[in-house]
Amino acid sequence: MSTIKAAYQATLERIETALVDAGRPPESVHLLAVSKTRPAQAVAELAQLGQRAFGENYVSEGVAKIEELNHLDLDWHFIGPIQSNKTRAIAESFDWVHSVDRKKLITRLNDQRPTDRPPLNVLIQVNLDGEVQKAGCDPSEIPELANLIDQSPRLTLRGLMAIPAPRAEWAEQIEVFNTLAGHFEDLRRAHPSVDALSAGMSDDLEAAIAAGANWVRIGTALFGARASA
Ligand SMILES: *Cc1c(COP(=O)(O)O)cnc(C)c1O
Repeated sequence: MSTIKAAYQATLERIETALVDAGRPPESVHLLAVSKTRPAQAVAELAQLGQRAFGENYVSEGVAKIEELNHLDLDWHFIGPIQSNKTRAIAESFDWVHSVDRKKLITRLNDQRPTDRPPLNVLIQVNLDGEVQKAGCDPSEIPELANLIDQSPRLTLRGLMAIPAPRAEWAEQIEVFNTLAGHFEDLRRAHPSVDALSAGMSDDLEAAIAAGANWVRIGTALFGARASA
């Protein structure tokens, strides 16, 4: 069995075990394979095993892979910090974006989404730790950003994303993901299109799933350690 096949099966098993432990239904979490810094060949290998959703952090790298793998039926998610001069490439090439955190990006993505493509699926990135150097809006800004996305015909509001600072203890991981899940429930009550809670990475997917995440974003556990990580 290839390394990537074994890692893929192990990751799917981790997710299903976490769902059982959380008392949640099987297959109620989507796996987003984070392919940043990995060659298109690694994406193609995983696609052949049945993986459909891939996440990229860097616009030019992501667009190049999307073009190279155009013959495969994949869904591409942009999950990295967004510079406003890169919104056009995101709007033209990706299916989802998880990292929208300010009004200017919403206006630009809506204006730049091609009319021959379905609306772009948008998640608001929330900064739960108040870390100034990190992307993500303050939780208090969620309603205003959500309303603006809802009023944008070329965008569909799907939910929230967060990248909490790493916490070693399970109780601390659960606490921050539960805080996020509370914001998600508030948002879902106000906006019926909301269904995506994107949280959990290779080191903390179990806690994220216990708190209700339904998209986990996994790189290292699938592809091995990144050279530059
Ligand atoms: C790199 C990255 C991931 C994947 O992290 P791993 O620890 O490698 O699983 C998930 N989400 C975002 C936003 C990332 O940048």
